[in-house]
Amino acid sequence: MATTVHTVSAATRRFLEKPRPFLLDGEWVSTAGAHQHIAVDPATGAAIGSFFEAQPADLERAVVAARRSFDDGRWRLLTPARRQEILWRVGDLIANDAARLAELECLEGGRLFQPALRHEIPHAAETFRYYAGWCTKLDGRLFDPSVPGVDFHGYVRHMPVGVVGQIIPWNGALVAASWKLAPALAAGCSIILKPAELSTLAVLRLGELLLEAGVPPGVVNILPGRGRILGQMIATHCDIDKVAFTGSTAVGKQLLTAAQGNLKRLTLELGGKSPTLIFADADLSTAIPGAAGAIFSGAGQVCVAGSRIYAERSIFERVCTGLVDAAARLRVGPGLDSTSEMGPLISAAHRLSVHSLVLEGAKRSANVLTGGAPQEGSGFFYPPTVIACESADNPVLRDEVFGPVVTVMAFDGEDDAIRHANNSVYGLAASVWTQNLARAHRAAGAIRSGIVWVNSHGIPELSMPIGGMKQSGWGREHGIEGLMIYTEAKSVMMRL
Ligand code: NAD
Repeated sequence: MATTVHTVSAATRRFLEKPRPFLLDGEWVSTAGAHQHIAVDPATGAAIGSFFEAQPADLERAVVAARRSFDDGRWRLLTPARRQEILWRVGDLIANDAARLAELECLEGGRLFQPALRHEIPHAAETFRYYAGWCTKLDGRLFDPSVPGVDFHGYVRHMPVGVVGQIIPWNGALVAASWKLAPALAAGCSIILKPAELSTLAVLRLGELLLEAGVPPGVVNILPGRGRILGQMIATHCDIDKVAFTGSTAVGKQLLTAAQGNLKRLTLELGGKSPTLIFADADLSTAIPGAAGAIFSGAGQVCVAGSRIYAERSIFERVCTGLVDAAARLRVGPGLDSTSEMGPLISAAHRLSVHSLVLEGAKRSANVLTGGAPQEGSGFFYPPTVIACESADNPVLRDEVFGPVVTVMAFDGEDDAIRHANNSVYGLAASVWTQNLARAHRAAGAIRSGIVWVNSHGIPELSMPIGGMKQSGWGREHGIEGLMIYTEAKSVMMRL
């Protein structure tokens, strides 16, 4: 296939020319003397731009600004129709700016340019449009209270929870930001969003689009900064009413303690180790490429990545061979190259952690069928890696790798498959590959995870809730559940 390397647009080059300021109370702030974070292209290891990191004093100002904007009702008291119109416009502006946003996600976040342009950016736009619609649909309930001898009229309203701190990871930063901002804005909240250190630039561009669409100053504040400092401050701050966090289970657990000062509401979208079950009756011509795509797309840096494959014993060898073939065919390269099918890992440090787990796993009754060593050359590439495992205790099978590394294990019958699938502290996602309809429903019901795909994997659907059981988190995003996490129920009892 002919290689075509996408040329970065003049708009993106201009955006990257100067250190990017952050968004505080409707102003773009570049604090004199503040640390400038150098943004690195994971495909080359070279610097591509920089942004200012917000300092603790900036967070204090942002909390005051967000609180003021919430209390004076400049956003939450707009008519639902007006808020709908503004959020819909954010969606349109994202769609109009798709090329620049995809370039930024590719240059800083290591995404593939074409899939980002065709799928991820349109999905971010659609997230704002989906939640725009909820502004005018959020309703309450009526009751006839059972108070002896007195007539009451009762109703329940869903009120915005208040000032929300949102902390997001580096993988698919623009989509992660949209999944957080759109429902919180639809509910009427004011927000302080902290992007991850390794992927911030597209989120800053989104901030420009939010202002352009008409989101009033102070309602969304975007403060880049370090997790251990700024993130921790957001979690502990007593004038922030709720924290919505997406990231690792380890940091999620730390937030439990941090949030206790004012008992702030907490939702956690955490790690995963999602199983892919392939039964002997599956159509292997779709199941094997499907299972390969479930782990290798996004270089495995996807929360719902299908990182544990279980194949029925009679087809185990075929599945292993098929996965190795799929890995061999996969073109690994920079996201700007249109022929690349898998991009780099996000950083040198992350590649080291991926490789350490592979080495650790390879020591314990496991057979590395392909991959398993970092690629030479510039950038933080790691090859698609397939490891046949015999023991469920192997750390590479047990722990989240967050890279293009999949374990394969054989199972004997449906009960054994379910037992393996549920043998994890995580419960984020799963897929079941079978042509037996009854088995598909039984397995989907028995697997303890927030979502189960049948004969597919990783397809997002904005109208259906997604989130984790067990140590994969608390709460759900998407759908009405994703809106409700930004509301508090209020009962009103009116004596007649
Ligand atoms: P991470 O937990 O290291 O960081 C996530 C965010 O938390 C970043 O913004 C970081 O700066 C911040 N942070 C770090 N330490 C903090 C602290 N002590 N207090 C407050 N904030 C802190 O995760 P990551 O490496 O950026 O992302 C990868 C992880 O995210 C994986 O575990 C992946 O499964 C998970 N993830 C989950 C979902 C989901 O929907 N369940 C989606 C995407 C990613």
